[in-house]
Amino acid sequence: MDQIRIQGLRIYARHGVYEEERKLGQSFYVDARLDMDLRAAGERDDLDFSADYGAVCKKIVEVMTGEDFRLIEAAAHRTAQEVLLSFPAVQSITLTLHKPQAPIALPFEDVAVRIKRGWHTAYVASGSNLGDREAFLRMGIDGLNAHPLCRVEQVAPVYETTPYGGVEQGEFLNTVMKVRTLLEPDQLLRLLQETENSAGRERKVHWGPRTLDLDLLLYDDRILETPRLIVPHPDMENRDFVLKPLSDLAPGLVHPVSGQTILGLLRRLEKNGELHVKSM
Ligand code: ATP
Ligand code: CA
Ligand code: CA
Repeated sequence: MDQIRIQGLRIYARHGVYEEERKLGQSFYVDARLDMDLRAAGERDDLDFSADYGAVCKKIVEVMTGEDFRLIEAAAHRTAQEVLLSFPAVQSITLTLHKPQAPIALPFEDVAVRIKRGWHTAYVASGSNLGDREAFLRMGIDGLNAHPLCRVEQVAPVYETTPYGGVEQGEFLNTVMKVRTLLEPDQLLRLLQETENSAGRERKVHWGPRTLDLDLLLYDDRILETPRLIVPHPDMENRDFVLKPLSDLAPGLVHPVSGQTILGLLRRLEKNGELHVKSM
């Protein structure tokens, strides 16, 4: 990926564990590597398609001087996060924070932390078959958008679906959202569950009726298996009410376990006649 690099930005700030450091302050130096696609900016000669490096430097200074952190790890983390939030064209940032006057009672040249932070793409399935189903799907979108580290970028069309899994219950509305997020998978799952809860979700019958169900389908091309979270969602390839809206957004996306495209997985279900969506 293309990069913008900033080297040795000097900032007088007050990060440190010791009281003296917080009172007197010292010089810190920041190197930043911004990973982003610079082709459109280059072809059009237009700053709107890039990130203004002067503005990025100002933002870094603003965060580094706006709050005093005990650890340079924390100062770096917050600075990286704010750059990503303020400059959406930046896909990821590698930030090195140097503290050459750190209180170490030995001769040394420099001490620094280097971190990498970036946007992730998640696909989230949402379903509802109780109450005002459309309003509950809307609460799912709004709930994710309300989190500062999440942006719902696209929402697929909504499909009406006959229930899956053998429990007698009302028909579902289903869709899929594309989410750009700085949250890690476990943090995103927690947000999904909090959003379900605030939509009045009760857990009584497994696969039973629900106001709002939010499942994490895919998170970049990561494969995860913990007691609380399995990604890709382990049953997605058997569900046309997931694959159909997902294929509206990303037909050519490759499922990282099966190696098949989303459209390919959907075609396989269609061939086998295992369909729950009422009208495609
Ligand atoms: P299914 O996951 O088969 O669609 P469900 O949505 O009805 O069933 P829930 O009762 O909503 O199941 O969730 C049960 C548990 O599944 C959750 O507590 C959660 O920890 C776990 N889980 C594992 N992987 C995922 C995932 N990818 N997305 C959402 N929940 C997951
Ligand atoms: Ca589910
Ligand atoms: Ca669920």
